[in-house]
Amino acid sequence: MNATRVLVLNSGSSSVKYQLIDMRDATRLAVGLVERIGEQTSRFKHTCLTSGDTRELDGPIADHDAALKAVAEELARDGLGLDSPELAAIGHRVVHGGMFFTEPTVVDDAVLHEIERLIPVAPLHNPANLTGIRTAMALRPDLPQVAVFDTAFHTTMPESAARYAIDTKIADRHRVRRYGFHGTSHAYVSRATAHLLGKAPEDVNVIVLHLGNGASASAVRGGRCVDTSMGLTPLEGLVMGTRSGDLDPAVIFHLQRVGGMSMDEIDTLLNKRSGLFGLCGDNDMREIQRRMEAGDEEARLAFEIYVHRLKKYIGAYYAVLGTVDAVAFTAGVGENAAFVREAAVEGLAGLGLAVDGARNAVRGDEPRLVSPEGARVAVAVVPTDEEMEIATQTYALVGKNS
Ligand code: AMP
Repeated sequence: MNATRVLVLNSGSSSVKYQLIDMRDATRLAVGLVERIGEQTSRFKHTCLTSGDTRELDGPIADHDAALKAVAEELARDGLGLDSPELAAIGHRVVHGGMFFTEPTVVDDAVLHEIERLIPVAPLHNPANLTGIRTAMALRPDLPQVAVFDTAFHTTMPESAARYAIDTKIADRHRVRRYGFHGTSHAYVSRATAHLLGKAPEDVNVIVLHLGNGASASAVRGGRCVDTSMGLTPLEGLVMGTRSGDLDPAVIFHLQRVGGMSMDEIDTLLNKRSGLFGLCGDNDMREIQRRMEAGDEEARLAFEIYVHRLKKYIGAYYAVLGTVDAVAFTAGVGENAAFVREAAVEGLAGLGLAVDGARNAVRGDEPRLVSPEGARVAVAVVPTDEEMEIATQTYALVGKNS
């Protein structure tokens, strides 16, 4: 293929993140972010990595159409315009692909329709992702647009892990099941962990802990996901920055019946005012660490609840997998917070899990082992790269089809 560049677009409800990558050598040519779309105070930061130029623009950007046009203009100023014959495809992050999309998919009308049909199970994300795709299609109708789904990696989960124990007919009618999210990250990190161990992904079992503001764990057997902690929505599972993770569903009835809260209020409570933030008023792990060091008991308890849940998932996925080759930490907290990694495996020597203090303290951008030499189970830090994974999957698909 002569066209070797892929533009990766991650369209949120009020933001667009992008990266232009040359797939010949996985070089990033440009990166940027448009924020607060639709407000008077929109912000646009674009960096051309070939020249090192960064440009920041403040001022209203009305909608995604205007945002993408602004992105296209900035890329063109750097000689990287969307009309370049070197652009092979645009890869879009799509949060919810349901059970239908098990792989990256070239977008056509039927695909758009199916992503639209999934809006009821992803009301915050899929509409924004669709807007991004439609806008990009209007800008370059001739170019392959590829949807890469956050849920796809988890479609290999067996029914025993994917189903909730509720009435099957009702579950099927309303598509209630465990889909999982962050799949692009879990796929990338589980594969990179195998490479770090010098093995093929098919030959290792990995527990991936994606700990960012959103957080999820997955159990990956031989490169295929067999369980993950997020469910119908990204609310289930680990304690997160602002989401509660697991709780007795009866808490919701109780808050409605006894607390007099509306469903929307409870939704906001569990998604936006819970987790670390709900427990101590901070969702940034750096701030929680600072407060703990200053003797703040509220921050300490929030951290202990966070770590307790994390340990339960490590234990659960150990049991699901039977044998584990590695536990891999990734995302903002997992990659940077050595004290979280240490606390998560503390007391788990019986499972073969431990960190080496000196190794764990090393910071860096490269995948690395933090377990002691010769440990039965490797503990690894593997920086995630969802954009590169989306670009890789997009390019592979377009290459296959061309
Ligand atoms: P992400 O969602 O992957 O971008 O992760 C964002 C979160 O990572 C922030 O909310 C912080 O809690 C956490 N984080 C980022 N840098 C650090 C750090 N140096 N130490 C501890 N936590 C960090």
